Amino acid sequence: MTDLQKEFLEIIADVRAHLEYQRALGVKSIEIGSQDVQVPIAQSAAVSSPKKQTATTLAAPPIVKEPAKITATVQAGQPATLESIRNEIGDCTRCKLHKGRNSIVYGEGDPKAKIVFVGEGPGFEEDQQGRPFVGAAGQLLTDIIEKGMKIKRAEVYICNIVKCRPPNNRNPEPDEVEACIGFVKKQIVAINPRVIVTLGNVPTQNLLGTKQGITRMRGTWQEYNGIPVMPTFHPSYLLRSPGEKKWVWIDIKKVMERLGIAVPAKE
Ligand code: URA
Repeated sequence: MTDLQKEFLEIIADVRAHLEYQRALGVKSIEIGSQDVQVPIAQSAAVSSPKKQTATTLAAPPIVKEPAKITATVQAGQPATLESIRNEIGDCTRCKLHKGRNSIVYGEGDPKAKIVFVGEGPGFEEDQQGRPFVGAAGQLLTDIIEKGMKIKRAEVYICNIVKCRPPNNRNPEPDEVEACIGFVKKQIVAINPRVIVTLGNVPTQNLLGTKQGITRMRGTWQEYNGIPVMPTFHPSYLLRSPGEKKWVWIDIKKVMERLGIAVPAKE
């Protein structure tokens, strides 16, 4: 491949990322050229079903970097609310996970939360109850929030990268993430939190557009769309490796300090 071809592919990837970002914000069409021609984003070649893409566009990397800034308001149309985003999801069949689900686990908490916790996807209990993090890992997350941070679980917002349970609790596959991640991004825009905590590899890698593992990323401040992100270990991992809890406490204390929440002098 020549340098020119590489550059061309990079431009396509950038345009695609920009259009996907606009679509995630709820923008339905864009103006092209100087003639005010409206092109529906959903039908644009760059963001239509990836299956229809040509060999050229398939070469675009699967994880694209977000443009520097997403604002809390949508230029074309009203800003999305948590309720309108849930309505947009509807009785979703956008990916194969819908076939095995009991419920869509949208997310819950304070719509004006200062902290958003993002997990990977619902497990068995969550699928049964339609609520995020209510199984064993959820109890541990609740303890981290309520016993560690000394705030109520209802004061934060908790959601996942995918809203339907992957079979046997496997990691969500790239096509499933692609079908769903726009919704968590919209939820983040609607809430506009001061900090996001990503739990484990799946939300960390997909929100930040990185392939770095959580062991390297945890405890280091990152940024998503201008919002500080603290990656930390997933509570399920802590259930398997309780000795690692100390690292999560170190990470959570950084979040507390940033938000001006009093950190106990001694644990
Ligand atoms: N694990 C997750 O990532 N999310 C949940 O909601 C529950 C378990």
